[in-house]
Amino acid sequence: MATLYIIGTPIGNLEDITLRALRVLKEVDLVLCEDTRVTKRLLSKYEIDTPTMSYHAQSKLAKVDKILELLTEGKNIALVSDAGTPCISDPGVLLVSQVREKFGDDVSIVPIPGPSALITALSAAGISVAEFTFLGFLPHKKGRETLFKEIAESTRVMAFYESTHRIEKALESLEKFCGADRHVIVARELTKIYEEFVRGTVAEVRAHYAKNPDRVRGEFVVIVQGRI
Ligand code: SAM
Repeated sequence: MATLYIIGTPIGNLEDITLRALRVLKEVDLVLCEDTRVTKRLLSKYEIDTPTMSYHAQSKLAKVDKILELLTEGKNIALVSDAGTPCISDPGVLLVSQVREKFGDDVSIVPIPGPSALITALSAAGISVAEFTFLGFLPHKKGRETLFKEIAESTRVMAFYESTHRIEKALESLEKFCGADRHVIVARELTKIYEEFVRGTVAEVRAHYAKNPDRVRGEFVVIVQGRI
């Protein structure tokens, strides 16, 4: 029986990979990568020379069909994304659902846990996250205002992903909808050289970035405390 492995990979520090992930990446017939150049850096660090093939957000159904064909032939395949856990704001959902639909229990889908920016950020946030809501990336236009209103009203912790280009805009919207006093934690460049946690009210965090424009750079997880 063929197996599709869903493998979590590092979000910055290449040492953040499990022994099991490395073994499976070595043993499978093919590694599906969001960007083969990114994954090859990881594979070459661990002297893994398994063939790779691209599978990304723009991949068409024809690519999925090709992968289904390989599984039918009994090939074992690993799916990774550029960073973190596939299918979490990353490609993979279509493939996993198609494999389940076509093969049912005849192909095993095996998750191999690894890092995710969300959990990494929450783990060191220093607030109670027994319950939280994850919003992924916020919509740029349609539905954006509604979502910010939801964040403003929520008594639960809310977390979302943000990019360099939009972090200041997101903080501005948080101030507009939640007020300048709402507490937030912004986790930047996790596991990398310039890892940084900025904590405080929205106004304080905005002031921090206004004072340090060189830090408005990299990848961000934003954690918003619930309304009191
Ligand atoms: N699948 C990934 C995961 O499990 O975390 C998420 C991929 S998503 C395309 C990329 C977003 O995740 C970035 O824009 C950022 O919001 C967040 N992210 C990824 N790596 C990060 C890091 N090292 N530090 C902070 N945020 C990160």
